[in-house]
Amino acid sequence: ERRDDEKRILVIGLGRFGSSLALELARRGWEVLGMDSNPRLVQTYADALTHTVIADSTDEEALRQVGAHQFARAVVAIGTHLEESILTTSLLVDMGVGNIWAKATSRRHGRILEQVGAHHVVLPEHDMGERVAHLVSGRMLDYVELEEGFALGKTKAPKELLGRTLQETRVRQRYGITVVSVKRVGASFTYATQETILHKGDQIVVAGRTDDVERFAESQR
Ligand code: ADP
Repeated sequence: ERRDDEKRILVIGLGRFGSSLALELARRGWEVLGMDSNPRLVQTYADALTHTVIADSTDEEALRQVGAHQFARAVVAIGTHLEESILTTSLLVDMGVGNIWAKATSRRHGRILEQVGAHHVVLPEHDMGERVAHLVSGRMLDYVELEEGFALGKTKAPKELLGRTLQETRVRQRYGITVVSVKRVGASFTYATQETILHKGDQIVVAGRTDDVERFAESQR
């Protein structure tokens, strides 16, 4: 009855994080059941989500009634109420929901959620803070660390790389980074090749070790 390939998801907590997540999935054609104990929030998202329910997710009976145990995926988007977040996650684990994403507000909160059995823990404020640190301190237009020590960064095409093919610039040997895509002014991103020539005003996405990506961006002054 519970299929992993189904585009169905239970989202518990329709605060800023949970509602953004739920709306984005609904826009992408997912069947979303949104749950919150706050009637006002449930009302707000009733039209945009497939199903919405006013319920307390720490109440096992209430969870069963909405069929929580029949979901292959769930998101626990309760951040500030630590006890509710942990208890809800634990109930979903006991019900056998196979793919639980839980939002944590601190590393300690995240560790507890993992111990309780959450399959994925996200720390949105913490992660976004780190990400913005890379943006404010350097020359990066966008930045994402894919895992510890490996990152993607978006920068303006640096002067020293203009007018020659990427192969000729030897950017990979010199900086340890790979230019993966290029965006001409007014166009959209396309993948880069060794023959790609950068022009003034282009934007590029580079991939590499976090330190190398940072060093590359820093060198472009
Ligand atoms: P955000 O920072 O994303 O807005 P919050 O932690 O402030 O996150 O919001 C979490 C949401 O979860 C709130 O809308 C709150 O009503 C809801 N919530 C908290 N505890 C429960 C619970 N036991 N059952 C259902 N919803 C809950």
